Amino acid sequence: MKNINYEYSEAFARKMDEHDSLLEFRKKFFFPQVNGKEALYFCGNSLGLQPKTTEAYIKKELENWAKLAVDGHFYGEDAWYHVRKKSKPALAAIVGAHEHEVVAMNNLTSNLHFLMVSFYRPDQKRYKIITEAGAFPSDMYMLETQVKFHGLDPEKCIIELAPRAGEYILRTEDILKVIEENKENLALVMMAGLQYYTGQVFDMEVITEAAHEAGAYAGFDLAHAAGNVPLQLHDWGVDFATWCSYKYLNSGPGNISGIFVHERHAESPELPRFAGWWGHDEGERFRMEKGFKPMYGADGWQLANSNVLALAAHQASLDIFEEAGMERLRKKSELLTGYLEFLIHEISGKSGVLEIITPKNPSERGCQLSLLIHKGGKAVFDEFYNHGVVGDWRNPNVIRIAPTPLYNSFLDVYQFAKILEQSLQKFA
Ligand SMILES: *Cc1c(COP(=O)(O)O)cnc(C)c1O
Repeated sequence: MKNINYEYSEAFARKMDEHDSLLEFRKKFFFPQVNGKEALYFCGNSLGLQPKTTEAYIKKELENWAKLAVDGHFYGEDAWYHVRKKSKPALAAIVGAHEHEVVAMNNLTSNLHFLMVSFYRPDQKRYKIITEAGAFPSDMYMLETQVKFHGLDPEKCIIELAPRAGEYILRTEDILKVIEENKENLALVMMAGLQYYTGQVFDMEVITEAAHEAGAYAGFDLAHAAGNVPLQLHDWGVDFATWCSYKYLNSGPGNISGIFVHERHAESPELPRFAGWWGHDEGERFRMEKGFKPMYGADGWQLANSNVLALAAHQASLDIFEEAGMERLRKKSELLTGYLEFLIHEISGKSGVLEIITPKNPSERGCQLSLLIHKGGKAVFDEFYNHGVVGDWRNPNVIRIAPTPLYNSFLDVYQFAKILEQSLQKFA
């Protein structure tokens, strides 16, 4: 399958769809309308589509609430008291973890802060954080204010990894070099697993190993990685990670986040944390006594009682992921994004009006391709939007297109290419 000979034709796209065992999965989702017709949706990197089952999952909890009220916490198999456990098998499979290493809770940015409380504890010797330049703004603000919270200067503490002049993506060797150069004072490497702007997947295993050798922790923001690329957080030895559920995980706008804390920190009383009663030993929680006793594993980082309605929407999507399986999704994803890449090259041709900045190597990218558009810019983007293509525009001149293997087809990608070609003819 790797050396597939792609073709720029509808017949070829249809043939690929015929051989796609995941094709039926697109029927499980609602597609939005643009100008009165069903859109070609390539924006799952920003907000995943709604599964048709989500409503029923939420409705069930509304009914439980109506019928049981407070008894819903302890009544039956679906008792809210244990509701966090339901999402663990799927989440563990998605991020490559043991179930006790993951839990769904809070929002992504909140979780970053809470995890930093435990994993960024600067002292005289170790106070530096390495991150990628041009990180997602929330992550930048988080790092900046965490450093200030400790009374330190962000300029002196935060080291940003930038690509070489004239390049768009970071070279692993350069990342390792910066870790090595700062090893005396390094407290933490905290970066994206998959860079939202360029679509680059970082070598989390190698980076983690280097961070540990330098005596630092390694944590990753997996907002664009979870549900998109294969992850083995446990085996890679990553200390902590967090993600959101509304991008590739299709769980609804602003919905619940999740965290990973490596087993080696499962029982670490020396790690400080900002605790709440839901992180306290479950068996003793209702004794309402003084003295925080954390639950084993990631659960010990929970603060508040579970958001049942949010988890219901999350579960609707996680059940679809379990059915599809990350391995099958990834296989299709490589082919689908490979097809998009092929078509972009076909269309852009010698003019070079489109330049893909996302890595060529499939193991260094997820489903998203980031395209620099050298002529026509936003007018081209607006033109294809008006023809029903939902992508994503980033100033000054980047278009992000994310064909997701769960609900995009090869025909979608072909149709986008046709519309893109026409839009370029008009404006570029
Ligand atoms: C989407 C995204 C966020 C958003 O954070 P929220 O707390 O969910 O609003 C943060 N960081 C990265 C890298 C993202 O991609």
